[in-house]
Amino acid sequence: MSMFCYQCQETARNKGCTVRGVCGKESEVAVLQDLLIFLLKGIAYHGTKARARGKVDPEADLFVAQALFATITNANFDGDRFVRMIERALALRAGLAALAGSESDTNAPEAATWLPANQARSTYLAKGALVGLLSDSDVGEDIQSLRHLLLFGIKGLAAYTDHAYMLDTENAELLGFIQEVLVATLDDGKTVQDLVALVLRCGEMGVQAMALLDEANTSHFGHPEPTAVNLGVAPGPGILVSGHDLRDLEELLIQTEGTGINVYTHGEMLPAHAYPRLKAYEHLVANYGGSWWHQKREFEQFGGPILMTTNCIIPPSETYLDRLFTTGMAGWPGAHYIPDRLPGKPKDFSSLIAKAHECHEPEQLEDGTITIGFAHNAVASVADKVVEAVKSGAIKRFVVMAGCDGRHKSRQYFSDVAKGLPQDSVILTAGCAKYRYNKLDLGDIGGIPRVLDAGQCNDSYSLVVTALSLVAAFGVESVNDLPIEYDIAWYAQKAVIVLLALLSLGVKRIRLGPTLPAFLSPNVAQLIVDTFDLMPITTAEEDIASIVAG
Ligand code: SF4
Repeated sequence: MSMFCYQCQETARNKGCTVRGVCGKESEVAVLQDLLIFLLKGIAYHGTKARARGKVDPEADLFVAQALFATITNANFDGDRFVRMIERALALRAGLAALAGSESDTNAPEAATWLPANQARSTYLAKGALVGLLSDSDVGEDIQSLRHLLLFGIKGLAAYTDHAYMLDTENAELLGFIQEVLVATLDDGKTVQDLVALVLRCGEMGVQAMALLDEANTSHFGHPEPTAVNLGVAPGPGILVSGHDLRDLEELLIQTEGTGINVYTHGEMLPAHAYPRLKAYEHLVANYGGSWWHQKREFEQFGGPILMTTNCIIPPSETYLDRLFTTGMAGWPGAHYIPDRLPGKPKDFSSLIAKAHECHEPEQLEDGTITIGFAHNAVASVADKVVEAVKSGAIKRFVVMAGCDGRHKSRQYFSDVAKGLPQDSVILTAGCAKYRYNKLDLGDIGGIPRVLDAGQCNDSYSLVVTALSLVAAFGVESVNDLPIEYDIAWYAQKAVIVLLALLSLGVKRIRLGPTLPAFLSPNVAQLIVDTFDLMPITTAEEDIASIVAG
């Protein structure tokens, strides 16, 4: 075995990637990521001690979140970037140990003290091979499973927190909690009960992180509004923007204004079209293509440069590698990289813009429009209409079908459920799972579209706000008393924190698929199933029948 990773739904044989990731992650990168996470635990050890003494290092705190974000599925495949992060982690850890006065702590775990003999990559690889996910197998499979559930949960939490920080919206409590969890994963004294309690707190923090990001997005860009988004192309050169970072998109829109270049969105950037401050740019012309895993064909056909702002990269072909740009925590070896912004300045997208002028116009893939923008504010504005439709029987149920898309054929299930639900059902969605059904003509109920798209995966928070407003409107006691069913598609670690957030809010009877996470031991999976009535998906026919039965 040259690596071990089982953090996402597409892990090999639903057990673990051991030679090369199904996602394309090379074993060397996986091992460097393992060493980085080991060092992050060491930073967290000293950081938590410093925090207890009333001292913080904001640079180190944000670094921990960003480095975790860099290790999520499909975010960064660039070994050189991980070597640089490892070196920075060592420096930040030393600074924090001094700040905490814990340099000579004889009880400190190895993660807090280990030093490389030299700065050779082979030294890092040798150590990384010893500290990966399976290095704590001796603690028992349930403790190990809970530690990994927590690690993958805080990876999603870290990514959402970083998105908010990129919009200058901060919450030090979230960064502190991430370190508390990292330290807990080193603590052999933590019992199953301790870790289960921490998992629930992790979910609560997930709600906070998504609320923070919602505040960041809506205060910067306005509340999403129902918007018909063009799916075609416009004359002229274009730049395609993917990932989740709305600030990157805005800075690019400013820098391309008046240049004759059109800007297109891809995948999870689709919801950008619904924000008033972004849709005001006339050269933000359309959404191009489908969800992340279609990108190889679609990026080839696009013809112009592509900017990946966050996770969702798949191994590019040589045909477009020279047109591929990454920024932030995203990375691919050999792709262009747009450096971080300097204090008080925007990122410099001039090389990306110059590339657009060299390339040919995008090839049209499809035409027509799709309607998006049903985040909590927009739904609240028609709440009376929604409540009336439920009371009259025109709407019998809502089905939350949020989450992620993925490559497996088994995900056809989600298209089949969307198509097969009775006409009196409304689908509430967020994240790229929607690409399985958002271009089907599912119609509307008295003017209310049957697919209400709240936005990116983090906008699952919007669905929670919508559900809570319906609790008040219907005068029931909890979200579990509403005519809402949950049929969630998961893929990576952002979905893990969304799921934990829903569980922490007491949401029960969630269907989850296409498979349950490989990192849940049988006992931990059973505990979650028993406590929250979580259900694996079955077949579309069976689940539709069960949804309709309520
Ligand atoms: Fe495998 Fe998923 Fe890990 Fe990639 S992220 S190596 S596909 S488990």
